[in-house]
Amino acid sequence: MKNHPTVTEIAPPLLEWYGKNARDLPWRQNHDPYRVWVSEIMLQQTRVEAVKPYYQRFLQRLPTIAHLAQVPEEELMKLWEGLGYYSRVRNIQKAARLVVEQYGGQMPATPEELKKLPGIGDYTAGAVASIAFGCPAACVDGNVLRVFARLRADRSDIASPKVREALSHEISANMPPNPGDFNQALMELGATVCLPNGEPLCQSCPLGHLCAARQQGIQNELPVKAAKAARTVSRRHILVLRDSAGRIALRKRAQGPLKGMWELPGLEGELTPQQVEAGAAELGFDAKLVENLGPSKHIFTHREWQMEGWLLQSGRPFEAAEGWVFATAQELEQDYALPAAFRAYRVWKED
Ligand code: SF4
Repeated sequence: MKNHPTVTEIAPPLLEWYGKNARDLPWRQNHDPYRVWVSEIMLQQTRVEAVKPYYQRFLQRLPTIAHLAQVPEEELMKLWEGLGYYSRVRNIQKAARLVVEQYGGQMPATPEELKKLPGIGDYTAGAVASIAFGCPAACVDGNVLRVFARLRADRSDIASPKVREALSHEISANMPPNPGDFNQALMELGATVCLPNGEPLCQSCPLGHLCAARQQGIQNELPVKAAKAARTVSRRHILVLRDSAGRIALRKRAQGPLKGMWELPGLEGELTPQQVEAGAAELGFDAKLVENLGPSKHIFTHREWQMEGWLLQSGRPFEAAEGWVFATAQELEQDYALPAAFRAYRVWKED
């Protein structure tokens, strides 16, 4: 990447702007390392507005690392239900247990130590170390890469790890005295002014006078980002299997993006309604198709599910079978965390 304007030139106007314009977000109320960590994990791939209610509920129920280390997995999944990317929540609990066992319940303070914990990579380590402990460590996300690409009219591919690493080194080496504020200010500028899609708000930008892309009128051409590999699309039929007592059949997913989560069972491929009913029988359920619940779609990072939902009703109570649970509507709401992918098929909510 080019290196003008420099970090040192950017810092004063950016920090002054941030001091006046920082959004009042729940995780900014104090810089407790645990709170910063939880917020950074939740914010990965998830919008600020979506995270807010989850964050508050999570911290109310699990106010310390020790609480997080001890909470039963089902309850933890329930707190995370709907946020997606469930490997994050499993890693955060593994990491909390390590912090309790190896660090006496205190988060380590350096990026190097933080990166030894599950689920903490360069970005999160930099965020926690700088915001909570004042370490001069960069945290470079898509927002920061975009801001620099535009400031410097730089056409390097921001999807390239080398570009990210080089910028991270440069920022760390030239970090101003308040690293947490500087990192947050850069991300804030990217999130609220130097916007990702559509027109950046250059008229309101505290760095407009330094910005090469603005001077050249090429803000909308930047950043350059190599196209991602296309997502794999799979066609799935989702079965809502209900017994005579109104209980719904669930099982734990054995593979794929939601591995280990409770799921409504699914069948792969292009199937006729008769084949769906036969598929349910093969799973061990004597149930008749009663309703087509319609199509829906869920997008994971590298995969897309195109789904068709089906309600199947049994005239008898389901019998206990290994690997399955049968849950009432109330249990489904209170005890089982069903991933957002199945949101369209929660027929029990209308009961
Ligand atoms: S002037 Fe415009 S393009 Fe340049 S950093 Fe500011 S918002 Fe982004």
